[in-house]
Amino acid sequence: MSQLSFFEQVNRMFDRAASYLDHPKGLIEQIRMVNSVYRMEFPLRRDDGSVETIEAYRAEHSHHKLPTKGGIRYADYVNEDEVMALAALMTYKCAIVDVPFGGAKGGIKVNSRDYSTAELERITRRYTFELAKKNFIGPGIDVPAPDYGSGPREMAWIMDTYNQIAPDPLNAIACVTGKPVGQGGVRGRKEATGRGVYFAVREACTFEDDMAKLGLTPGLPGKTVAVQGLGNVGYHAAKFIEEGGGKLVGLSEIEGSIYNADGLDLESVMAFRKETGSIVGYPGSTHLGDARAVLECACDVLVPAALEGQITRENAARIQAKLIAEGANGPVDADGDDILREKGVLILPDIYANAGGVTVSYFEWLRNLQHVRFGRMSKRSEQATQERIVQAVERATGTPFDADTRRELIHGADEVDLVNSGLEDTMIAAYHEIRDVAKQYNVDLRTAAFIDAINKVAVAYGQMGIWP
Ligand code: NAD
Repeated sequence: MSQLSFFEQVNRMFDRAASYLDHPKGLIEQIRMVNSVYRMEFPLRRDDGSVETIEAYRAEHSHHKLPTKGGIRYADYVNEDEVMALAALMTYKCAIVDVPFGGAKGGIKVNSRDYSTAELERITRRYTFELAKKNFIGPGIDVPAPDYGSGPREMAWIMDTYNQIAPDPLNAIACVTGKPVGQGGVRGRKEATGRGVYFAVREACTFEDDMAKLGLTPGLPGKTVAVQGLGNVGYHAAKFIEEGGGKLVGLSEIEGSIYNADGLDLESVMAFRKETGSIVGYPGSTHLGDARAVLECACDVLVPAALEGQITRENAARIQAKLIAEGANGPVDADGDDILREKGVLILPDIYANAGGVTVSYFEWLRNLQHVRFGRMSKRSEQATQERIVQAVERATGTPFDADTRRELIHGADEVDLVNSGLEDTMIAAYHEIRDVAKQYNVDLRTAAFIDAINKVAVAYGQMGIWP
C-alpha cells in the first residue's frame, strides 16, 4: 500500500492534470483544498442502556457552486482524510457531468451491522441535528445522499429530522437525496450509480479504435466481466451489464471471490447468498480466494465497486482486465494507476464512471424544488401528438401498426423514463467530452477527467470575479 493518504492520492492525480494547464498557482490551490470540515463527537445511548461516543464528519470541499453535494458513509474505518478525499472527488465528478453543485462528503464511524435499527436511527437523527446546527445541511447549502453503508432509510430519517427544524419548510424535502420514492425520492435513483457504470462501459466499448488497442472487438455483448462488491453500486452495475449482454464471470463480496468462465447468473448468486450467507460455494463456481482475489481473474472488464485502495502497487501488475470501470471511489490508488497506465489498461475513472448517482440526485433535488413529478403536466399532450403522428403514418402507408407497437409509439414518457434517459444522455455526453480532452492532451482518461473538471471549476471562479 502506498504511504500516501487517500486525499494525497487524489491530489497526486489532480496535480498531474494541473501540470498540463497554466492556471495561476493560487487558483489551482483554491480548487484543490477542502473549504470546510466539521468534525463532531456525540453520545449514543445503546439499547442495553450503555453510552458510547460516536465520531462523525462532514467535509465541504468546494463552495464554487452551492449547494454542496455528497453521500454519507457509515463504516468503522471512516476518518477525516477519507471524507476529505471523497468530498474532493465529488467536486470533480459534479463538474464533469455538469451538475451545478460543489463537492461534499459525510462519514459516521460505525459499522451498521453492529447496531440495531433503533440505534442507527438515533445516530442518524443526531448527526442531522449537528449538521443543521452548524449550517452544514439545507436545500441551498449542503445536500447529503447515500454512500457505503447507507440508503433510502437513512435519507428518510435525515429528511424527517431536518423537516422539524427547517428554516424554509417549503423546500425542506430537498435537503437530502436518495430518499424513498414515497418520501420525495425519484424513481431510478437507487439504481442510478450502477446504471451509470453500465452506460459508461457500454459507451467506451463502442469505439472501434480504442477497443482494437486493447485487443478487443467493439460492443459490450460477449465481453467477460468481473465485479467486486455487490452492494448498491456493484449489484446494479452487474445487473445492467448482464442485461446489456456482458458475461459475468467473476463476483466478490466480503466473504470471498467466485469465478466461472461459462458465466454466473447474478440473481441466482444473490439468492444463494441470501440463503447461505455467502457467495462462496455457489454451484458450478470456483472459489478464487478472499474478496480481492476477483480483481486478478481472467476477464475483459473489471468493475471494482466496493471500496478505495483495492488496486495498488502490490497487485496492479497481476490485473488481467483490459478495461476497468471504477464503480467505487478511489479503488485504484496512485501507484496502482501508474502501473495500469503503463500496461495500457483503459480506466474509466471514478469521477466519471460513478457520476450517475449524483446526476440522478440532481434530478431528485430539482423535482423536490419544483414540487411536481417530471412529465406530469406534459404527458397527455405528448401522447395526443404521438397519436396524431401514428395515425398520419398509418394513413400514408395504408398499413396499421400492430397493437403492441402502436401502444409503444404512443405511450408518453413516465418519470422514470425521463430520469433514465437524462442519465443515459449525461453519461454518454460526458464520456465523449473526457475522451476528446484525452485526445487533445494525449493523456489517459483519468488525467483528462481531472483536466476537464479543473477547467470547469476555474471558469466558475473566473465568472465570480475571483480570478481575473
Ligand atoms: P453499499 O454499502 O451498498 O455496498 C458495498 C458492498 O461492498 C457491500 O455489500 C459490502 O459487503 C461489500 N464489500 C465491502 N468490502 C468488500 C470487499 N473488500 N470486497 C468485496 N465486497 C466488499 O455501498 P455502495 O453505495 O454500493 O458504495 C460502494 C462504493 O461506491 C463506495 O466506494 C462508494 O463511495 C461508491 N459510490 C456510491 C454511490 C451511491 O450512489 N451509493 C455513488 C458513487 C460512488
